[in-house]
Amino acid sequence: MTVTTATTATKKGASNLNLLKYCLSATKKELFHFVTQELKRSGYQIIKTHDFVHGKGSLPVLINAHADTVHEDERKRVKNLFFDAERRTFWSPQGLGADDRSGVYVLLKIVKDGLRPSVLMTDGEEYGGWGASAFLDHDDCSLALEVSKNNNYIIGLDRRGDMESVFYDCANRDFFRFIKKFGFKKRRGSFADNSTLSPFLELAAANLSAGYYHEHTKSEYLDVSALERTIKAVKRMLPTKTGRFSDDTQLALVNKKRKSDGCAFYVVDGNKHTEKYLDDPDCHDFEPDELELMYGDDRELKHALTYLQSLLVNTRRCNQLFLSQYAGA
Ligand SMILES: [Zn+2]
Repeated sequence: MTVTTATTATKKGASNLNLLKYCLSATKKELFHFVTQELKRSGYQIIKTHDFVHGKGSLPVLINAHADTVHEDERKRVKNLFFDAERRTFWSPQGLGADDRSGVYVLLKIVKDGLRPSVLMTDGEEYGGWGASAFLDHDDCSLALEVSKNNNYIIGLDRRGDMESVFYDCANRDFFRFIKKFGFKKRRGSFADNSTLSPFLELAAANLSAGYYHEHTKSEYLDVSALERTIKAVKRMLPTKTGRFSDDTQLALVNKKRKSDGCAFYVVDGNKHTEKYLDDPDCHDFEPDELELMYGDDRELKHALTYLQSLLVNTRRCNQLFLSQYAGA
């Protein structure tokens, strides 16, 4: 086993492995700056805030990853980064954070290799997806509307393992088939930025393996070969001509209205339409048994709760958008 310590800086023309090491070890602030500069250098027009970096591309696909990791409170920069050259794996006793720094590496690598999808890097995914929410809210949702209009689907580089894909609440079978064509196996996932982005942008989303294992623990490691398989597949996928893949959620918010003393919204569960009414005006509290109306299965409850929360955020967002569009009319 060969063990080497990581270099800290990545310069233009440095090897892919050095770029990957940089993504794994940089602080979040450094990474925000670095990604912004790299995208600018590649001709992207950038929108950068504290919460996200977005670059509009010429291919009609949005690819995304998150810069935050569960380890960031405990560390400034990863100093002890180890690479096993034989197995091609990275790990760190400080916590690797390949979830989702390896996803950020994929974004950069794809751009470096000459493809120009739209790109989104967020903060706060591990803490409820607030970077993704800020992106949707940006400029009274006008950015989100433009992104929705200009893209056919979303690819998140944020999933453990090797050639796996997760679709959250998306139920678009044509999209499953499309992703499968590139070698990805379908798995189930609970929450990611795309749980927030996909329903609001009304675009189908898949999160694809970024090669990490045991994420959110100190024994997390990254399998570089698995990461490279995803990059290869995504590079074949992006130039493939497709139509628009709509979100088609199993539980889709189809109509929303706000009442002075609560929120009401419709959900579609298969062919069943249900009107759901929550009487907490801030929509914060609701009893888990209320959810059983929509979900018969206990197993799904945790997932339902997370999803419903993102739904409620979107409800408020849609109302804001509605008001901003029609208030002056
Ligand atoms: Zn993640």
